[in-house]
Amino acid sequence: MKLLVVEDETKTGDYLKQGLIEAGFVVDLARTGLDGHHQAMTEAYDLILLDVMLPDVDGLRIVQTLRAAGKATPVLFLTARDTVDDRVKGLEAGADDYLVKPFAFAELLARVRTLLRRGAAPVQADRLQVADLTLDLPKRRAMRGGVRINLTNKEFALLELLVRRQGEVLPRSLIASQVWDMNFDSDTNVIDVAIRRLRAKIDDAFEPKLIHTVRGMGYSVEAPDAA
Ligand code: CA
Repeated sequence: MKLLVVEDETKTGDYLKQGLIEAGFVVDLARTGLDGHHQAMTEAYDLILLDVMLPDVDGLRIVQTLRAAGKATPVLFLTARDTVDDRVKGLEAGADDYLVKPFAFAELLARVRTLLRRGAAPVQADRLQVADLTLDLPKRRAMRGGVRINLTNKEFALLELLVRRQGEVLPRSLIASQVWDMNFDSDTNVIDVAIRRLRAKIDDAFEPKLIHTVRGMGYSVEAPDAA
């Protein structure tokens, strides 16, 4: 899952970015309102954490212009201004939730995960499932056939992306941007290596095989009965 943090205070921005990366997200950090607005308009994010008080363009204006442009990306406002009036303004402008500074990182993380679940389609909010493979999103755990599978953060993020969009063939370029936050050259094998490792963990000892290679196109996760 890819998040954008728009925050002009250097320490707060760095702290948020680092904490969210450690929680398994891909994170872009914009330090001005203009940069944040530009990135939100041009990149695909699952959620935007938006500081309200920015020196150039304030957060309210940014969310208004995003919504006016048809961008439905969930927005979590971060603000020091704790008044009912500001909360109402923020929500009216199109924000999805509101967190008042200072906040505990654990609370921020809980709000982020709630918003991400709200935006996602799966029936059960905390879990993604395909065949006998289950991903527990809050705990970042994978189980297959009742066996706990140890995955690195990147492996979990890769698997989560594939399972969220099960049945779809995901091109390497999309996987690279969503999981590694990078644009890989098409001849790099970083993704193929990661897929091989993931297969060794979730497919080698189990049937049916869930990860499929679509030659020349990319990868998909699909249970055979859904094919
Ligand atoms: Ca600020």
